[in-house]
Amino acid sequence: MNIDQNNHYVNISQLTKRFGSNTVFEGIECSIKQGEFITLLGPSGCGKSTLLRSLAGLNPIDGGSIHVDGEDITHQTPQERGIGMVFQSYALFPNMTVENNIAFGLKMKKLSSENIKKEVAKIIQLVDLAGKEQHYPHQLSGGQRQRVALARALVVKPRILLLDEPLSALDAKIRKRLRQQIREIQKELNLTTIFVTHDQEEAMIMSDRIFLMNNGEIVQQGSPEEIYTQPANEFVAGFMGHYNLMAAQHAKQLFNIDTTEKIAIRPESIYVEEKGRHYPKHISVPLTAKIRSHQLLGNVIRYQVALESCRDCELTVDLLNRSSERLLANGQQLNLRFNLNEIQPVRA
Ligand code: ADP
Ligand code: MG
Repeated sequence: MNIDQNNHYVNISQLTKRFGSNTVFEGIECSIKQGEFITLLGPSGCGKSTLLRSLAGLNPIDGGSIHVDGEDITHQTPQERGIGMVFQSYALFPNMTVENNIAFGLKMKKLSSENIKKEVAKIIQLVDLAGKEQHYPHQLSGGQRQRVALARALVVKPRILLLDEPLSALDAKIRKRLRQQIREIQKELNLTTIFVTHDQEEAMIMSDRIFLMNNGEIVQQGSPEEIYTQPANEFVAGFMGHYNLMAAQHAKQLFNIDTTEKIAIRPESIYVEEKGRHYPKHISVPLTAKIRSHQLLGNVIRYQVALESCRDCELTVDLLNRSSERLLANGQQLNLRFNLNEIQPVRA
């Protein structure tokens, strides 16, 4: 373990998990600071839930270690770890009131009924469920149920909170509100949190840092901005944005960039040339293109264009939907300019 890792609150080293002959991950390395909000982001099946369950002690692991606050928890039971977990499905007790669902963990810990009452009341305020104490789960909306699940995890004062796609089953509006609430509560408690999602927008909005996973590997760790603007490889470029990838020979031909790797160009970094406008040096000469198709995404119009000087180069160009007069028709020709500072080589 290096010195940098020693300063972290959570250290995961060489973590390995197999199901029979299926190795889900092998040699996972990562560290998390106290109070950090980390998002595990990646496509379905890449191993996010398995990693989270391994941290919680719900999955026996096949190698490696987990340290929290200097303590080796690798072989502790889930109860000993002091880790709270919220799942996608609420997993509430259907025959218990909100109050009793939340109090359950404290009763297990044999707290006095007076203390239990006090702690539960505090948490109910925190997750904004006042007035719902005597309701049963079936009398609550999905968002409220998920807040009960959150309260139940928080009431025992975990040192780490793990959230496995807690918003996936909720509709868009409630989802947006609840992710904001989760982030506010997490900050208020300065609670070290690992949140799992397959939604890159959610990861971008919520996280201090994102761990991007693919096929059981953490392929990049960094702030949302770093991951979005400096993708480590083609997978990240494709998953985080709608980056255009261009072969090395075209990078040379079109932009005089010498590289053996593909280059990545963000769709929103491409300009449509405006006549009479002066462009600084880091903006390319104009390249003629023809619009193949377009999609209206609301605030953005996404054009598919073909470059005239490069038959194989189809590009995605995102333009702000400023006014309906500016909508460009399919078949129309236009001149594109590229911000050379934003073009970068990416590993395969
Ligand atoms: P994610 O949460 O990223 O969608 P999972 O961690 O659920 O992915 O799954 C990762 C891999 O582990 C998948 O190939 C999945 O089939 C396998 N897996 C997960 N849980 C089990 C299990 N209990 N038994 C066998 N294989 C499992
Ligand atoms: Mg999962």
